[in-house]
Amino acid sequence: MYFSSMDGDFVNRLYSRSTSPKCQAEGCDFDLTNAKNYHRRHKVCEFHSKASTVIAAGLTQRFCQQCSRFHLLAEFDNGKRSCRRRLADHNRRRRKSSQNQNHSKSQITSTQSSSSEIISRYEPD
Ligand SMILES: [Zn+2]
Ligand SMILES: [Zn+2]
Repeated sequence: MYFSSMDGDFVNRLYSRSTSPKCQAEGCDFDLTNAKNYHRRHKVCEFHSKASTVIAAGLTQRFCQQCSRFHLLAEFDNGKRSCRRRLADHNRRRRKSSQNQNHSKSQITSTQSSSSEIISRYEPD
């Protein structure tokens, strides 16, 4: 850590002080006090939770709607709002269960399209 132990008390006080929640995006001071629970909990305003790129913590990132946190753009497929890892998890699980029932290729194609339906339903409103 950068802070020495002598500064520990100061740091604790800094963190425990109740400040109104703000969006993590750089340059965005959106006050989340009256925002939706979801946005307040994840410290992101509605705009930045949907933006395709957001500068947060000095890095170009995007808010992942599956993990409810920012990831680097490298974690996403182009234009996707959910990181690749989550999508892979989804597909793997779907494919595994479909293999138990049916080995045909058409079955796999149809489960893939239905899994993206499920993902879009997780979008916060
Ligand atoms: Zn914001
Ligand atoms: Zn994610």
